[in-house]
Amino acid sequence: SNDYRVVVFGAGGVGKSSLVLRFIKGTFRESYIPTIEDTYRQVISCNKNICTLQITDTTGSHQFPAMQRLSITKGHAFILVYSVCSRQSLEELRPIWNLIKELKGQEITQIPVMLVGNKCDESAELREVTNSEGQAEAASWGVSFMETSAKTNHNVTELFQELLNMEKNR
Ligand code: GDP
Ligand code: MG
Repeated sequence: SNDYRVVVFGAGGVGKSSLVLRFIKGTFRESYIPTIEDTYRQVISCNKNICTLQITDTTGSHQFPAMQRLSITKGHAFILVYSVCSRQSLEELRPIWNLIKELKGQEITQIPVMLVGNKCDESAELREVTNSEGQAEAASWGVSFMETSAKTNHNVTELFQELLNMEKNR
């Protein structure tokens, strides 16, 4: 079909919803509103065709296991978000990444995956994960890497654009 399904995973509070809302609506809010699970659709052009970009904003690690497996099975690309201010949030991505690899099997090498360190606007004192540590983690997983800020709009369009490019180039 012409549906391109991108699934966003990550611990609560890392900025998953903020990244999606920044990309879809161009807005940002300071308040934290926990998500159930939301899907956003946007019509885009890809490979000279019209297709629907479908972004699923998950609840992260508190997602029901059955829902998590279903999101992975149906997903074409994955954004794995941690906060650069929380090493714990990077560690919480490991089991999700392992589950994605398990469920996708051989296919995994063909699937666009981006490890994203969000909140890169935060001050140096609040940082717990450096850019090079994030890069090294992504390299060891064999996935792409980017730091973003939903707050300042740094690398947000680039993130989604890069995923679409990875899809085209495979
Ligand atoms: P989610 O649980 O992963 O969906 O996280 P949210 O998108 O709800 O964001 C959690 C909190 O982090 C909110 O208070 C946001 O305003 C804040 N936040 C999200 N992205 C950023 C960012 O890039 N920089 C900063 N400084 N705060 C952010
Ligand atoms: Mg959310």
